[in-house]
Amino acid sequence: MTDAARPLWPSILNGLACRCPRCGKGRLYRRYLRVVPQCPECGLELSGHRADDLPAYIVVTIVGHILVVGLFHFSVGAWNPAVLLALLVAAAIIVPVAILPSVKGAVVGLQYALRLHGFAVEEGEDAAEGVLDRRRGDHEDIGLQLPAERQDTRESYKLAEAFEETRDA
Ligand SMILES: [Zn+2]
Repeated sequence: MTDAARPLWPSILNGLACRCPRCGKGRLYRRYLRVVPQCPECGLELSGHRADDLPAYIVVTIVGHILVVGLFHFSVGAWNPAVLLALLVAAAIIVPVAILPSVKGAVVGLQYALRLHGFAVEEGEDAAEGVLDRRRGDHEDIGLQLPAERQDTRESYKLAEAFEETRDA
């Protein structure tokens, strides 16, 4: 499968459906919010996504708007306050849990389409160098110094692999 074109909306919609942003077939998650390292269908490397807190911010924004509408009904008095409170508390718990995987998938799809973070590597490029570039940030986070020279790529790649294994363990 060619990697040259990465259409924005299909990639986001595939992620929204909790599928691989490239092929739309492979499952995106191993567990609830745990992204698979690689698409089981097309082989796209997915471990380089950096969704971080953005899905949570988006979910809070969505749920916040739902709750504001509900709270408005308190002042209108059209609903029994106890029933309304129960509905709002349920919505505040159930809606975020239900939509977080789809929202995170959409963020991963967006990053893939825009070639952000670990999705910058094209097929045919020096994959080790690309993987290394995005993992170098991880190493800096924990204070590990990786050699930056290109001739050290092989050694650095092994270090990055070892780090990835310990992190996933
Ligand atoms: Zn795929």
